[in-house]
Amino acid sequence: MTQPYAFDTLQIHAGAKPDLATGARQVPIYQTTAYVFRDADHAARLFNLEEVGYIYSRLTNPTVQALAERVAALEGGAGAVCCSSGHAAQIMALFPLMGPGRNIIASTRLYGGTITQFSQTIKRFGWSAKFVDFDDTAALEAAVDDDTRAIFCESISNPGGYITDLPAVAAMAKKVGLPLIVDNTLATPWLCRPIEHGATLVVHSATKYLTGNGTVTGGVVVDSGNFDWSASGKFPSLSDPEPAYHGLAFHKALGPMAFTFHSIAVGLRDLGMTMNPQGAHYTLCGIETLSLRMERHVANARRIAEWLEADPRVEFVTYAGLPSSPWHGRVARVCPKGAGALFTFAVKGGYAACVKLVDHLKLFSHVANLGDTRSLIIHSASTTHRQLTEAQQIAAGAAPNVVRVSIGIEAAEDLIADLDQALDAATA
Ligand SMILES: *Cc1c(COP(=O)(O)O)cnc(C)c1O
Repeated sequence: MTQPYAFDTLQIHAGAKPDLATGARQVPIYQTTAYVFRDADHAARLFNLEEVGYIYSRLTNPTVQALAERVAALEGGAGAVCCSSGHAAQIMALFPLMGPGRNIIASTRLYGGTITQFSQTIKRFGWSAKFVDFDDTAALEAAVDDDTRAIFCESISNPGGYITDLPAVAAMAKKVGLPLIVDNTLATPWLCRPIEHGATLVVHSATKYLTGNGTVTGGVVVDSGNFDWSASGKFPSLSDPEPAYHGLAFHKALGPMAFTFHSIAVGLRDLGMTMNPQGAHYTLCGIETLSLRMERHVANARRIAEWLEADPRVEFVTYAGLPSSPWHGRVARVCPKGAGALFTFAVKGGYAACVKLVDHLKLFSHVANLGDTRSLIIHSASTTHRQLTEAQQIAAGAAPNVVRVSIGIEAAEDLIADLDQALDAATA
């Protein structure tokens, strides 16, 4: 796609063209494991990365590739690689950068599963994470040491819908010569384009808004193509001859596509966190309406947050789209089309009232998910965060008196009526 099409056109057309064999207009589900080589020379050229083509679906598949190209186009990146989940995308983003003894600096405001992945699981690879409040850029800079290989945050963060000052964090990453990785799941490229703020890599859980209707588990890593992997000597997998791929020096050979090709040729080949073609097809269908859905998600979220904030049964609402939010001033700069549709609110009556609220809602579903067309709610203190102490719950934005909502695209007045009757039952 060479012409500078607008977002609404790219979300339908990028990465897709009528099928060469059949003319099929929608991207077919290429449900195949392998691809026949034209001859032995063709096979050798593919394995040498001298020619781009399909070998085996753990590495690449035409349906999955269409999705990778579409998300890369929407994020303004050079290339992308699809993965089996958002969590797989995070490991795939770190994999070419890290090694035993290396660390990342991560924001304290992250999806709960990411905090567990970074504080516990990556230790088994000899990697570690230091968690810092990213609103304190001095503390962020002070945390960087010689073994740091990346800086990681969410554009709009879970669970409170806080907004990270991406231009400030990107300036800091640039100053210390490290790649900035931004999880853009909650914003989607319609609300925020982290690469334009200076991010190196963007990761997504495609499970959420990109697919949009709670049908698949998937992830994507987008590379900006802007980072000089050879400048510091800190990223030998990309700058030096890679022993895991017959000595190919990816950055020298492939320039801005180095990270993407390394992620396919080494990452997917050896870690196997591959997206399946059927999942890619569902996500491609979902993305076609991304901007339309996000507009409605944001409009509904704003209306419901305002209604909740004015309600005497509610103590506070954390939505950054409200003028009362400490993060409100960042909306225009970081995500000008809106502050997303995920936030928390505190119910008068504490833990007991929250439990009653989730049990009395009829339209909202009590589930551990977000970014669905359907409105969702979770009482974190009694579910995802129940192993934590109360102090840890409060620090995580999941205090016992707080519920998290993911506002869907139903009629706002129906959602408000549902909340109204459940709040009555909860606070009676
Ligand atoms: C859900 C989520 C993830 C993890 O994605 P999965 O697809 O569930 O593996 C990562 N980051 C954020 C912000 C998420 O909401």
